Amino acid sequence: MGFSSVVALVKDETSHYLKAGPSWAQTVLPLSLADQAFRRHLKNLLDLSHARMDLETIYLAHRVSREQLHAVQYTDPLTGLLNRRGFEDSGARELSRTARTGQTMGFVILDIDKFKNINDTYGHPAGDDVLRELAQVLREQTRTLDHVFRFGGEEFGVVLPHTPPGEMTHVCERIRIKVEETHFTSMPKAGAVTVSMGALSVGSEKRPKLEDVYPVADELLYRAKQEGRNRVISDTFK
Ligand code: GH3
Ligand code: MG
Ligand code: MG
Repeated sequence: MGFSSVVALVKDETSHYLKAGPSWAQTVLPLSLADQAFRRHLKNLLDLSHARMDLETIYLAHRVSREQLHAVQYTDPLTGLLNRRGFEDSGARELSRTARTGQTMGFVILDIDKFKNINDTYGHPAGDDVLRELAQVLREQTRTLDHVFRFGGEEFGVVLPHTPPGEMTHVCERIRIKVEETHFTSMPKAGAVTVSMGALSVGSEKRPKLEDVYPVADELLYRAKQEGRNRVISDTFK
C-alpha cells in the first residue's frame, strides 16, 4: 500500500474513506485520525500531493503543446511526411551519427517527372493525390529507421542510415520500379507517374555537413533528368 493510496483513502476523511479502503485501513485510520499530530501531518502531505498534481498537470499540458508544435513545424500537412525543417533536423543528425559510428549512409533526392503535365492534364487535386500516394509508396519501400521527407512541390528526400552504396542503389531502383508499376488512383493507368533520383552515398571520413551533400545529390538528380528521367543516378561523396 503506497502513500498515494493512503492519500486517496483519506481525501474526504469524514465520509467515504472507510468504505473505500482495505480492511487494515478501516481499523488503523480512524485511530490515527484521532491523533492531532497525525492529522496535521496528513494535511501537509495532502497539500503537497495536490500541489504536485497541479504541477504534473501543467507539465503534461506543456509537453502536449510542445509535441503538437513540433509536429506542426516538422510535418508536411499534405503527405504527413517530414518537411524541409524535419529534414534539416534528422538529416543533420544522421550525418553526424554516420561520422561518429564509421557507417555509410544513403542520401537521396527524388523528383516526380513532368509533374506539371500531370497537374495540367488531370487537375491540381489529382496532382495532390499523386503526391499523397507517392508518399505512401516511399513509406512502404523503406525501413522504419529510414527518414522520408517532402522538401516541397514534387520533390522528396530519403535518408538511409547504415546503408552501403550498393544497397542504397538497390532501394532506389526498387522505389523507381514500384512507382512506375503503381496505378495511382487519379491517373488513367499504371506508368503515368515516374520519378528520377539522385542518390549519394556518404561515408564517415569526410564528415560533410548537410549543405555539402545536398547540392551534390541535387546535381545527380539533374543528371537523371538530363539523361531521360525515370532513372537513378548514384555516386559516392568525395
Ligand atoms: P521535371 O521532370 O523536370 O521535374 O518536370 P516537372 O514538370 O515535374 O517540374 P516543374 O518544376 O516544371 O513543375 C513542378 C510542378 O509541381 C509545378 C507546380 O505547379 C507543381 N506543384 C508544386 N507543388 C504542388 C502541390 O502541392 N500540389 C500540386 N498538385 N502541384 C504542385
Ligand atoms: Mg518534377
Ligand atoms: Mg521539382
